[in-house]
Amino acid sequence: MDEDADYPESDTAQESGSAEGDEEYGFWETEETPSDDSETASSSSGEWTLADYPMGTVKEVEGKIAVVTIVADDASSSWDFETGDGADKLAKYHDRLGDAMSWLEKNIAEYGRDVHFIWDWEEHQELLYDGAFSTDLGSTINKEKEGIFEADEIIASRVNSDAVKKSLQADGIVYLFALNSNPNSTNVSCSFDVGSGPERSMKDYWYMMEGKEEPPYEFLVLMLNHRNEFITSSTIAHEFIHTLSVPDLYAASDTVPQEFVDYAWDNLTDIMQDDNEPGVKITEVTAYYMGLVDHSDLVDQWGLGPSTH
Ligand SMILES: [Zn+2]
Repeated sequence: MDEDADYPESDTAQESGSAEGDEEYGFWETEETPSDDSETASSSSGEWTLADYPMGTVKEVEGKIAVVTIVADDASSSWDFETGDGADKLAKYHDRLGDAMSWLEKNIAEYGRDVHFIWDWEEHQELLYDGAFSTDLGSTINKEKEGIFEADEIIASRVNSDAVKKSLQADGIVYLFALNSNPNSTNVSCSFDVGSGPERSMKDYWYMMEGKEEPPYEFLVLMLNHRNEFITSSTIAHEFIHTLSVPDLYAASDTVPQEFVDYAWDNLTDIMQDDNEPGVKITEVTAYYMGLVDHSDLVDQWGLGPSTH
């Protein structure tokens, strides 16, 4: 994979290294930790709850969506901003994230939706935090509840979501955990949506199994280093789209039959099919699952499952 070859570029792409040499990395500290008593907190502060957002806060892709980055260590990886390459990696991730958000805005606009992602922590300091997992996230996040619950605990303890929402006047909020995974790691990035649709995520599953109330927040776990490649903006965009309960189109699932996967391989250039293929876009199939269109001929024709939107 060639880094970002043929993938949308933005003006910021050439500015990598902007954080280099900084003493302060600007991780935001919440002034007050949200109360443990979530019922009291939600009624008094207006904090978002699952009752308000049964399909997550970003169910509808429109308006302003706050994109919070949490630079996270786990049991097998860490960030080093003192003597290591932390600053370079964060600057590179900053640019890739910006490209991903621009690409999403532009491609969503093709369907007549006006969405604005507020992601740049250099403009809005309350969009950048640090945090630490005690688990080895790469080996647990997709399989076990510990990493998922820990992610939500970090969000709750580090980020005052209600304050972020208010200060940015955001309609939705989504969290990206950026892991400085080992360069030769084979752990993949993954995303966790909210809701009970056909593409129910492991996050929904474990909250249901444990009988706990699930926070209404979608989050992504981004392994910045994977098989000696740095994460591309198209992979970030792909994972982001998953938070909207959109299935992969490169593998069969309850929603997508194998026959369609075979068809898509030769006939679609879709971000959910092969995110690093040149010229990828949001085709009508992914647009349908994102809730950007009500109908897709291809979905009907190939008997794909219903959209949750
Ligand atoms: Zn995927």
